[in-house]
Amino acid sequence: MDTDMFVAWFEEAARLVHRDRERLTRLDAAIGDADHGTNLDRGLSEVRKALTEWPPESPVQVLTSAGTALIRRVGGASGPLYGSVFRQMGKVLESPVTLAGFSAAFEEGVVAVERLGKAAPGDKTMVDALAPASRALALAVRDGAGVREAFEQAARAAAEGAEATIPMQARKGRASYLGERSIGHEDPGAASSALFMAALAAVAP
Ligand code: ADP
Ligand code: MG
Ligand code: MG
Repeated sequence: MDTDMFVAWFEEAARLVHRDRERLTRLDAAIGDADHGTNLDRGLSEVRKALTEWPPESPVQVLTSAGTALIRRVGGASGPLYGSVFRQMGKVLESPVTLAGFSAAFEEGVVAVERLGKAAPGDKTMVDALAPASRALALAVRDGAGVREAFEQAARAAAEGAEATIPMQARKGRASYLGERSIGHEDPGAASSALFMAALAAVAP
């Protein structure tokens, strides 16, 4: 897994989020303030700009640059949260990047979001897609899966995790203000996390 794969990951994530920005904003309109699609679309176009203006020389530089752009440019809760996933991954990722190393770094990224957002699985947030994805990656490593297979399993786990937020009542973020009325809607951040994992599977070597 080289620098080009990490750049391709963010380019594909930017493409998927741009394609789905109206769906993400619609989800946020139901239980938030109707800006998740535009927030993330803007943030990821800033990520692409940063990666073009300062061409990264390592996977760690891709993650740090992308994380920083998301923190600076997304004017919502999701910016600092996603930013912390990628910056934390960048802090601990060892090179050369192996599947086991990627999985370990991703797990630390998810822990960083849980800490920053004070969110746990079941709170109806992006954690409900990211944590199952992290678990799927770890299981794939344990079972000796190839990179593509592991990323596909992580993407599937994230998509299922996002769907599983529908019957949940939100306990964190804006959606929590709605109490029981947050039940019956997919969490927008969990939906976008599933797109990040789908993008990863799409660029797997
Ligand atoms: P904002 O809510 O500030 O408008 P966004 O709409 O961009 O920000 O992002 C909302 C998403 O952020 C939610 O759907 C949820 O997944 C995630 N989120 C919000 N607060 C938290 C939190 N405390 N912990 C984890 N994720 C959170
Ligand atoms: Mg919002
Ligand atoms: Mg907002």
